[in-house]
Amino acid sequence: MFRTCFIFLALLSLAAPSRAQDEARLKIKEHINKLAAGNMEGRGYVKKGAEKAAIYIQKEFEKAGLHPLSPDSTFVQFYHFQVNTFPDAMRLTVNKKLLNPGPDFLVDAQSSGYAQENMKVVKINLDKIRDSAAWQKARDGFTPGKMYRLSHSDSFCKRMSIPPRKLARELPDGCYMIPVKGKMTWAVGTDTIRPTVLYVQDSVLPRRIKNASVNVRSLLLPNHKSANLVAYVPGTLPDSFIVFSAHYDHLGRMGPAVFNGANDNASGTAMILYLADYFSRHPQRYSIAFIAFSGEEAGLKGSEYFAKNPLIPLSHIRFVANLDIMGDATDGVTVVNATEHPREFELLQEINKKNRYLPEVKNRGKSANSDHHHFSEAGVPAIFMYSNGGKGYYHDVFDKASELSMNNVVNVSRLLIDFVTELNKP
Ligand SMILES: [Zn+2]
Repeated sequence: MFRTCFIFLALLSLAAPSRAQDEARLKIKEHINKLAAGNMEGRGYVKKGAEKAAIYIQKEFEKAGLHPLSPDSTFVQFYHFQVNTFPDAMRLTVNKKLLNPGPDFLVDAQSSGYAQENMKVVKINLDKIRDSAAWQKARDGFTPGKMYRLSHSDSFCKRMSIPPRKLARELPDGCYMIPVKGKMTWAVGTDTIRPTVLYVQDSVLPRRIKNASVNVRSLLLPNHKSANLVAYVPGTLPDSFIVFSAHYDHLGRMGPAVFNGANDNASGTAMILYLADYFSRHPQRYSIAFIAFSGEEAGLKGSEYFAKNPLIPLSHIRFVANLDIMGDATDGVTVVNATEHPREFELLQEINKKNRYLPEVKNRGKSANSDHHHFSEAGVPAIFMYSNGGKGYYHDVFDKASELSMNNVVNVSRLLIDFVTELNKP
C-alpha cells in the first residue's frame, strides 16, 4: 500500500508541472485565437478592428482583477494620429484574370486610390534606365490612364540608391504595377502619395500583359482616435513599477484581405494578459503595470504618446519588458537592448541556464524596432524580447493563429516570471 502510494505521489509530482504548463499554453493560445480571429479584422483601422481588440483586452484586465491606471479610473488612454486606410474596393484584374488581394498583390500603403477598366499596360524595363537623367525622362512620360509595369525594380533601386519602399514616392500621379519575386510585406501608411502602386507576385503574372483593370479605394483618416490600454497590480512599494508592454494593433484590412497578425502581435498581447493574471495572484514588492499599446505598426504611435504623456512618472519605472512576436520560441528568444542593460541580460541568461527553459537567449544592441524605443530614449531601462522560430510569416495574410507552433512559449513566460521575481528581491 505504502509503495503504491509512493509511486502514485511520485507520478503526480511529475505530472503536476506539465499539467500547469498545459494550462498555461491553453490560456495563452486562447488569447491568441481570440485576438487573431477574423472578427477582429486584423486589429486595424477598418471595421473597428482595433476597437474590438481593445474591448477584449479591457475585459481580460478586469477579469484578472487589475487596477486601472488612467486618472479617470479606466484602462484607457486615448490619443490621435493620421492613418491611410483601404476600407473596401481592392480589385486588380490582369488579362481578365482576377487576382487575389493579399497573397497575389499588395497595394502600397500610402497609395491614393485609382479606378479604371481595361487599361493599356506599358512595360518599363528599369534595367535600361542607367542614371537619374534617364529616370527623370522616363517619369516625365508616365501619364494617368495607362498602367506602367516596372520590371527589375530591385536592381534598379540598388543602382540608383533608392530604398525599395521609397520607389513608389518617386512616381508621378497614375497607376503602377511592380512585380515582386518571393515574400511580400505589407505596412501601415500614415501619409499619402499621388500614385497608386500595386506590388504583384511575379509568379501570378502572365508574360504578356495586354490589359488590366484596377479599382482601389483609399480613405485617409486625418485624426483617427486610438487607445493605449493601461492597468497594474499594486505592490508593497506602490510607487515603483515594472512594466510589461505589447502592442495589440496590427495592419487591419486591405479591402477584403485581413491581416490577422497572430505572431505580430496577438502573441505578445496574449503573453502580457497571461502575466497580468499571474501577477495579480502573485503580487510583488514593485507594482507591475501592463500596457497594451496601439498604433505600433503606424510608427510606434502609442508608446511615443505614452512616453510623452506618461500615466506613471517615468522616473518611477524600474524596468520595461516589451514583448512583440512571441508565438514560436523553438530557437529561443532575442533581447534587444541587451547591450544597454548587461546586468539584467545576464540575469535572464542565468535563469535560463539554470532551468533550461530555452535553447538560447540571444543578445542584440539598440534598435528602434518596437515599443521599448521611446522608453529607452527617455532614459527608462527597457528591453524588447522577441521569439525565434516559425515559418517566417510576417506582415502578410499568412500570419494566422493556426500557423503558430507555440513551441517553448510557456517557458518564455516562466523565464519572464522568474526574471521579474528576481528583480523584485530587495
Ligand atoms: Zn509587432
